[in-house]
Amino acid sequence: MGAITKAEIGIGAASRANRYLDPAAETMPRDQLAALQLARLRDTVRNAYDHVPTHRARLDAARVRPDDLQSLADLRRLPFTVKSDLRDHYPFGMFARPCHELARLHASSGTTGKPTVVGYTRQDIDTWADLMARSLHCAGARQGDVVHNAYGYGLFTGGLGAHYGAERLGAVVVPMSGGSTERQIALIMDFRARVLCATPSYALAIAEVAEAQGVDLRASSLEIGLFGAEPWSQAMRGEIEDRLGLKAVDIYGLSEIMGPGVACECECRNGLHGWEDHFLFEVIDPDSGHALPEGEAGELVITTLTKQALPMLRYRTRDITRLTSAPCDCGRTHQRILRITGRNDDMLIIRGVNVYPSQIEAVLIGRPSIAPHYQLVVQRQGSLDQVSIEVEAQPGVPGESFEAIAHDVAHYIKSMIGISTDVLVQAPGTIPRSQGKAVRVRDLRPKGP
Ligand SMILES: [Zn+2]
Repeated sequence: MGAITKAEIGIGAASRANRYLDPAAETMPRDQLAALQLARLRDTVRNAYDHVPTHRARLDAARVRPDDLQSLADLRRLPFTVKSDLRDHYPFGMFARPCHELARLHASSGTTGKPTVVGYTRQDIDTWADLMARSLHCAGARQGDVVHNAYGYGLFTGGLGAHYGAERLGAVVVPMSGGSTERQIALIMDFRARVLCATPSYALAIAEVAEAQGVDLRASSLEIGLFGAEPWSQAMRGEIEDRLGLKAVDIYGLSEIMGPGVACECECRNGLHGWEDHFLFEVIDPDSGHALPEGEAGELVITTLTKQALPMLRYRTRDITRLTSAPCDCGRTHQRILRITGRNDDMLIIRGVNVYPSQIEAVLIGRPSIAPHYQLVVQRQGSLDQVSIEVEAQPGVPGESFEAIAHDVAHYIKSMIGISTDVLVQAPGTIPRSQGKAVRVRDLRPKGP
């Protein structure tokens, strides 16, 4: 008997028919989608107005009542919500349900002061699992796949978000969490994981440890990686794909809105489909707050459409991107958020030039002799901001060439980005490796008054 080909057992045809997890939702015509959004927006504003005093006071001040919303254009009349609202009303002041009606709390640690706390009803958790399953499927994961989940479990939404979504999809979840990198590699190999979920920086750390151990992950069962929770560049994508031998897919989410699964790339990898049956997306000018026409770059603003416990009206994400509702080759009708490569908070203004760490990352990753691990240190010298870049040499590069490499990298950054930097090349392994979100910038400038 000859080998049975994939075509003979119908896997190819099945996977095409099986392109969408929820075909009715994912390919809904845009006029139907808009009607659904308007109905859900009215419910959301009603929920916020009736149950959250801060929203009610702001809506009253803006002279908007839930019943006033006649079209989606009325969204622009709603006041914004910002991250500090959650801190200012710590812990539960922005919730639309009493604590005893919730099923789960998550929190993100702020660098200063109170954490940001978010809450979910049972139905919110259920919706989240559905959307995360939809995102995994959109990225190419299928029922029965072994999903190795290296996102941190705990108060961070990454671990449990991916976990519930993979279970909902019908995948086999390995709840690994971050850390114990040698063990991660052994289990990926032994359990024959097809899908890896991790932050992009941790995926690279896994690759690095595997290479040091002599394990070739490119020859492993891994085929798909879902990477998110921190901005990453196209150059970083190439590096991860080369070293892990998988297709690296960008996934987006934030705990204030839900967690991972708000948007995900499809097989076209030309922007992330934002799930518009559950969220409304806008891009605004971050300075004026005015909505920008489609295609212009600005700050992403998201309104939740189905959240019970924590309805969010025009939440300012501080992520900088563009939106397009142009048809996608995959057939999904939902808008695409172009890849987010920077956060407004992360933007550095270096002697008048706006710089995102991801721009520097893209330059560094392309250079020979440099490993894809780096940290930016920003200091003030007199009235001027000074950036130094700590990078690592590739293993085997002789120490006496570090200075020449540093000079070369600084010259290249100056020509590509237009800023002068001090580059310090260090021995391999010097820069701390992240097991979750990478810390790319150490800002040592004195804080303002
Ligand atoms: Zn698509």
